[in-house]
Amino acid sequence: MTVPRLVLASRNEHKVIELRRILAESGLAVELLGVDAFGSDPGVPDVAETGATFAENALLKAHAVAAATGLPAVADDSGLSVDALGGMPGVLSARWSGRHGDDLANLALVLGQLEDVPDDRRGAAFHCAAALALPDGTERVGEGYWPGTLTRAPRGTNGFGYDPIFVPEGRTQTSAEMSSDEKDQESHRARALRSLVPIVEDLIAAGRLR
Ligand code: IMP
Repeated sequence: MTVPRLVLASRNEHKVIELRRILAESGLAVELLGVDAFGSDPGVPDVAETGATFAENALLKAHAVAAATGLPAVADDSGLSVDALGGMPGVLSARWSGRHGDDLANLALVLGQLEDVPDDRRGAAFHCAAALALPDGTERVGEGYWPGTLTRAPRGTNGFGYDPIFVPEGRTQTSAEMSSDEKDQESHRARALRSLVPIVEDLIAAGRLR
């Protein structure tokens, strides 16, 4: 029996393993490939994240990979929304300090911007959109939130990005002080990816994924 194949629009092996685990936990018989499985042929493009929302960015990436591989593709986009900054950095999270991927500078800028903000107004949430696109243009999006508050100084060395200043609701540690297994169970990304499971199930039942 052949199982439907999905491609994850990411070269990050951790994300591939995380989605594989979520699919396995749900009992869905789906084979998940990373884009690396395609090498440079058929030339999977790196897509600029020009969307105004996480969902738009995730869809841009999923459609590009579905078109390049001819297979259903999943992509995610995520970031931190800070209440006191009116929801920013949001989709600009990776380049908030002006340079893409400078995690330390991004985090330092947010801490500086919030210096005078009192403890009861330091709410923030990680947000993730997970998009599924089929080669025929069909698209679906699932969303995940992980609410919490921001500390006044970084704590912890696990994770990446804004993890050292984010304390998830109901916890006292930052997400950089949690193990990656703990974080993978409750994070915005896990929630968004899990929300795709019933969508994939429906598409399989309708004979749209094979
Ligand atoms: P991406 O969607 O994985 O490219 O993440 C975009 C940016 O959002 C990252 O560069 C981080 O700054 C931030 N971000 C997203 N998810 C997390 C997380 O789980 N922890 C910390 N920072 C995150």
